[in-house]
Amino acid sequence: MRRPFIAGNWKMYKTNSEAEETIRYLKDKLKEIENVDIMIAPPYTALTIAAGITAGSNIYLGAQNVHYENEGAYTGEISPPMLVSAGCRYVIIGHSERRQYFGCTDKDVNLRLKSAVRSGLKTVVCIGEKLEERESGKTFDILSSQLSESLKNLSEEEKNMLIVAYEPVWAIGTGKTATPDIAEEAHKYIRGKIADMYGRDFASGVRILYGGSVKPDNIRDLMAQDNIDGALVGGASLDAESFSKIVNF
Ligand code: PEP
Repeated sequence: MRRPFIAGNWKMYKTNSEAEETIRYLKDKLKEIENVDIMIAPPYTALTIAAGITAGSNIYLGAQNVHYENEGAYTGEISPPMLVSAGCRYVIIGHSERRQYFGCTDKDVNLRLKSAVRSGLKTVVCIGEKLEERESGKTFDILSSQLSESLKNLSEEEKNMLIVAYEPVWAIGTGKTATPDIAEEAHKYIRGKIADMYGRDFASGVRILYGGSVKPDNIRDLMAQDNIDGALVGGASLDAESFSKIVNF
């Protein structure tokens, strides 16, 4: 049985005082939730404040990206040990905005995943096709090559720290959610591909999240699908009330 996982990606939103207000609300509102893993990924600047507020609660902290070196002359970057020291348990890797605007490749995703796990971080690896790729019938080819490269040569430990997020790029921040059927078709394909790479046993246990305009009014139908184990929520996670509703699907 795969335990539901609902994650909020705050992107480049919220100052520290805004983050504090949202997290205090979430902590109170979600304190009774026991059957869902909850993670929020605030901007780096709010991580330490978030860690203080969420300590001992059922809300885990994640970062939105990570470098693969532990330290070095990489101005503007943040390393896995730094995230751990700021209170993170998770990190999102290969988000489509990192791929689109900052040149993140599948090879980078694989390096970052391995490095993050060495520091004890669980990883949420994002994959997904662009609109033109879907329209030209290439969705499964794209997912296949993203998975082959991003999840290449994973050790047992790396596999155990893995969560996959299917985020069709055309559905992110656009208000266009994939229908539950479209999302399920992709999730089923992804689980099958992971089974080809690492065996059925592993594939049947790995959690695959859906991301792309998830809202309180569509989460339930998405979660009703056999291969959808949770959600990576962008816009709707910024509002504490709507994120709480999503967690309470
Ligand atoms: C995301 O940023 O991962 C995302 C899915 O965004 P949104 O929910 O706003 O589409």
